[in-house]
Amino acid sequence: MGETLSTLAYLVASVLFILALRGLSHPETSRQGNTFGMVGMGIAILATLAHHGMSFGGIALIIVGLAIGGTIGTVVAQRIQMTALPQLVAAFHSLVGMAAVFVAAGAFYAPMSFGIGTHEHIHTQSLIEMSLGVAIGAVTFSGSVIAFAKLAGKMSGAPITFQGQHWLNLALGILLLVLIITFVATGSGVLFWLIALLSFALGFLLIIPIGGADMPVVVSMLNSYSGWAAAGIGFTIGNLLLIITGALVGASGAILSYIMCKGMNRSIINVLLGGFGSESGAAAAGGGDTDRPPVKAGSPEDAAYMMKNAQKIIIVPGYGMAVAQAQQVLREMADLLKKEGAEIKYAIHPVAGRMPGHMNVLLAEANVPYDEVFELEEINPEFADADVAFVIGANDVTNPAAKTDKSSAIYGMPILDVERAKTVFFVKRGMASGYAGVENELFYRPNTMMLFGDAKKVTQEIVQSLQR
Ligand code: NDP
Repeated sequence: MGETLSTLAYLVASVLFILALRGLSHPETSRQGNTFGMVGMGIAILATLAHHGMSFGGIALIIVGLAIGGTIGTVVAQRIQMTALPQLVAAFHSLVGMAAVFVAAGAFYAPMSFGIGTHEHIHTQSLIEMSLGVAIGAVTFSGSVIAFAKLAGKMSGAPITFQGQHWLNLALGILLLVLIITFVATGSGVLFWLIALLSFALGFLLIIPIGGADMPVVVSMLNSYSGWAAAGIGFTIGNLLLIITGALVGASGAILSYIMCKGMNRSIINVLLGGFGSESGAAAAGGGDTDRPPVKAGSPEDAAYMMKNAQKIIIVPGYGMAVAQAQQVLREMADLLKKEGAEIKYAIHPVAGRMPGHMNVLLAEANVPYDEVFELEEINPEFADADVAFVIGANDVTNPAAKTDKSSAIYGMPILDVERAKTVFFVKRGMASGYAGVENELFYRPNTMMLFGDAKKVTQEIVQSLQR
């Protein structure tokens, strides 16, 4: 394939990737966005294979690789539970990081194939690019493996901290910089692998002090790193598409991290320095304070009766709804209540669930009309004139400690003002705290009624009561 034709194909693929990101920004267009992305990637792969005029053996190897990777990807994607998506994304990012390390190693050992010099003399610019690529790639790899292990419960989600940790990381960071500079000056193979090794260690050390609750932010940040690593490698091997795609991934990952931090009212530095979301907090929350009034628990029948007579109901979904997969039956409940004449609105907190847009995706899956779904700023003033706030599997995002308790881990996070509704129902299995491990005093308020049980089961029982 000629140079012009392949550049054109790359341009088309880049436009499709941009359209994919645009499509993915709204549930209504997300399927279309995915299709754009897949077509773009198909064009990119074909154009790359055609452009480099590969031997039959080379193409056969790539096809075998694509078949193996494609099969694994398809099987994993079909089997994965919605709630396990964050750890799956972390696992995938680790592969992107490792790929960046391998591509950099390939370019280092076969510079002539990439047109970046000879084995004795690789262009300085390429040495800089490949050292950055290998460093960012290796940090992304080991960091993502730890993020995966924490999210999947394969290791404790509690922050692992020790004295002098930040100083050690700083010292290793400086050492890495020195190694990169020396590598660029000498082109030494030993230094190349030392950079890789040190970066693997740094990725590990940077992520272990970060608590489980902050992992989604870390995953999207590592996503951003993997994009920049790919862009760096794109410069090394002179591949325009890799540069554009890497930059798109890098920028969108960074924006996503920013959105999450804003939703929790925390700075990225605060997230990276770690220590948030320790498990000891979660355990303490279950215990309860002896001075507290007893909690008022109701039955699904009570809830059905009260909601039948309500005029305005605001539904607040959270992580527990995702775990229980209660979205479908929740919509059925809302449909029945609408028939009874109630006005139904859904309130979405920006960090409800475990990833941005988590609740929107689930509600869209259950065909909840988009015009009933509202963001935090829009809906908050409406709780005051709501008869019922139906909180289903949400906890932290409603916790007033975020407004009042300066010592709380979630202090400063904007929250949904559910307590201003006449009656608040909390659908959850017990008194456990949310992901941040902070007790929620709303459970003890006089206008709160706890509906204990699995979110799907409780909602099903409400639906049955409403149908009677
Ligand atoms: P929380 O994690 O605060 O609370 C979820 C509640 O759901 C738990 O208290 C649990 O209580 C309940 N639950 C679990 N399983 C079930 C079930 N099967 N049926 C009924 N209830 C269930 O969730 P929120 O959505 O309110 O808050 C999200 C948290 O995640 C915040 O702390 C946020 O900062 C954090 N986070 C979110 C990110 C995002 O992008 N969305 C990113 C980073 C962090 P019980 O065990 O008693 O049932």
